Amino acid sequence: NNSRYLQSQQERESSARSYPRRLPIVISEAEGIYVRDMDGKVYYDCLAGAGTLALGHNHPVVIGAMRELFDSKAPLHTLDLTTPLKEAFVDELFASLPSSLASRARIQFCGPTGGDAVEAAIKLMKTATGRRSVLSFHGGYHGSTHAAMSLSGTLGQKERIAGLMPDVHFLPYPYAYRCPFGVGGSETQELSLRYIENVLHDPESGIVPPAAMIVEPVQGEGGSIPAPSAWLKELRRITRERDIPLIVDEVQTGLGRTGKLFAYEHAGIEPDAIVLSKAIGGSLPLSVVVYHERYDVWKPGAHIGTFRGNQLAMAAGLAALRYIKEQDLPERARLLGDRLKEQLWMLAEHERCIGDVRGLGLMIGVEIVDEHREPDRLGHYPAAPALAARIQQECLRRGLILEVGGRHAAVMRFLPPLIVTEQELDDIVFRFGESVRAARE
Ligand code: PMP
Repeated sequence: NNSRYLQSQQERESSARSYPRRLPIVISEAEGIYVRDMDGKVYYDCLAGAGTLALGHNHPVVIGAMRELFDSKAPLHTLDLTTPLKEAFVDELFASLPSSLASRARIQFCGPTGGDAVEAAIKLMKTATGRRSVLSFHGGYHGSTHAAMSLSGTLGQKERIAGLMPDVHFLPYPYAYRCPFGVGGSETQELSLRYIENVLHDPESGIVPPAAMIVEPVQGEGGSIPAPSAWLKELRRITRERDIPLIVDEVQTGLGRTGKLFAYEHAGIEPDAIVLSKAIGGSLPLSVVVYHERYDVWKPGAHIGTFRGNQLAMAAGLAALRYIKEQDLPERARLLGDRLKEQLWMLAEHERCIGDVRGLGLMIGVEIVDEHREPDRLGHYPAAPALAARIQQECLRRGLILEVGGRHAAVMRFLPPLIVTEQELDDIVFRFGESVRAARE
C-alpha cells in the first residue's frame, strides 16, 4: 500500500522533498502522538510537524474550534480585515506576553510560514533603524525564503544559491559541546559574549551598526542547543546598550515546548520582536511578528500579502493557546523533558555513541558520535551522521519517528507533542535504545 504512493511521489514531486526521503511512509490517520501508515503500522510521532503539533494530531479542542467556525457564518478568508475571531486571537496572545510588553505590543500577521515572519521582522527593523546589516548566529536556522536562508548559519542549501542577502554577520552561539573556541563548559558562553562585545566595539571589525540581531533561544534545526539564560541576558544587555533591536525567533520554541510559554522567559528578558509560527496556528499555517510599538514605523501597505492571518488557523491556534495555558502544558513539558533527559543519559552510560544529551523541556537532542575515532581537544568524539541516519531507520522500523538535525546531521531530535504521557515516553526511550543497539551492530 505504502509503496504505490511512494512511487507516485517520486515521479511527481519536486526533488527538493526532504522528510520523505528519510521517512518513506504514507500517513493515512493520526491521533495525538500516533500516526498510522497505509499498511496499518502505528508510529510514535516525535517529529510532530517539526515541533508544530503541541497538542498532537487532531486534538478534540482544536478540531472542535474549527468545526465551530465551519458551522458559524464567519468568513474563512478576509485578507487582513478584522473579525471577532482575529480580535480574540490577538487578545489571548497579548495576554500571554509579559505585561510590560503586552501593553505596548503590536502585531503583524504574515504569510503562512515561519520564514515569512522572519522576513517581515527583518524588513521592519531595517525600516525602523535605517540600517542594513543583520547579526545572526552560527548554526541558526530561520527558514528557506531568500532572506531567511541568508540568516541561517549553516551552509547546506545556501552553498548553491548565489547572491543571498548581503551584510549578514554570523556570531558564535554558545554550543558548549562543539565549542567554537575549543574550551567547552561555561567558558563557551563567556567567550562568545566577549567576542560579540569586541566586534561590535571595534570600528575595524567590519560590522557597521546593524539593523537587528536575530537569535533562537534554543537552536532547533541546529541540534537542540539551549542558549544559557545568563548568555541571553547578557545578549539583551549588549543589544540594548548599542541600540540594536533584538528579534527572538520562537518559531520552534514558542507555545510551551521548552517549559515556558516562550523560551525567552527562562532568561527573564524582554525582546524587541518575537517571531512565531508552527504551534501558534494549532497545526494550521499561521505566522506573526509581535514587536514593541516603538518599531511600528511602516507606512500603510508596507508589508502586504493575500494570506495574512488565516481565520481557520486563528480558530485552531486560539483554542490550542487557551488549552496550553489552562492545562499548564509548559510545566508538563518541563517535568517530562527532565525525565526524558535523565533516561537518555542513563542510556548513554551503555551506549558510547551517545555523546551528548541536551535541550529544554520537550525539545531534546541526542548527539551521535563515532567513539572509534580521535576525540577533539575537549575529549568529544566526532559527529557520526551515517550512524545517526541508521538509528533513524531502525527507529522507524520500531514504530518511532524521529528527526535528525544538527550542524553535522548527527543529532536525534525528540520533539513529541506536549500531551505525551510518561508511559509513552518510557516506551519511546525503550524503542530508541533498541534502535541504537541495532544500528551499531
Ligand atoms: N525559525 C525557526 C527557529 C525554525 O525552526 C523554522 C522551521 N524549522 C523556521 C524559522 C522557518 O519556519 P517555516 O519552515 O515555517 O518557514
